[in-house]
Amino acid sequence: MRLLLVEDDVMVASGIKLGLSDAGYAVDWVGSAERALEVTKSEAFDLAVVDIGLPLMDGLALTQRLRQGGHAMPVLILTARDALQDRVQGLDMGADDYMVKPFELPELLARLRALLRRSQAATSATLTFGSLELDTAHRQACIRPPAQTMADGESVLPPTIPIELGPREWTVMEYLLLQAPKPANKDKLLQALTGWDKEITPNAIEVYISRLRGKLEPHGIALRSIRGFGYRLELVPSAGDPGDAP
Ligand code: CA
Repeated sequence: MRLLLVEDDVMVASGIKLGLSDAGYAVDWVGSAERALEVTKSEAFDLAVVDIGLPLMDGLALTQRLRQGGHAMPVLILTARDALQDRVQGLDMGADDYMVKPFELPELLARLRALLRRSQAATSATLTFGSLELDTAHRQACIRPPAQTMADGESVLPPTIPIELGPREWTVMEYLLLQAPKPANKDKLLQALTGWDKEITPNAIEVYISRLRGKLEPHGIALRSIRGFGYRLELVPSAGDPGDAP
């Protein structure tokens, strides 16, 4: 997921940028509304975090301009404490949510996840593919083995198997699941992972893909390479799934 951060305060901006990057987002930071309007002409973002107090054009006017320009990405505005009027006005101008500064990073992350979920039109916080489950609210991935029928006819749910994913592996995995069963475009995947200052080569993507393969293949989920396009999640019919042995 690629986020645009619009904040003129260097200290605040680098703090937020660091926190969001650590959480696996690709973050591009600009210091003014004018620059934000410029970059959104040519680059696509999944979400914008916009500070209201910006030099020249403020964050409210920016939000309005983005909406007038047809940008539908979620916008979360940052406001100073007690500026109720700003918050109300921000929502009226087309912002989707706001946070009052100073705020705790975990809360910002939770708000962003909620906004991204809504905009990805996923009704549930859990993305699934076959036995794979991604709980986007808690950032937990697991394999949910199928129910087993015991000798007495009773159906038993085996425990889930947690899958450990690093932040960037998580970003790749989430993107693949949002696209599934369609293939995910490698360029788009690259865009979801990179900011301007952090170059990730196509080779690095292959490293993440290969790590994910190692984690998914034992559970019957393959990551097929689609030549010249990208990758697709596929279910592998297993010969003699140990879980199904009589
Ligand atoms: Ca500011």
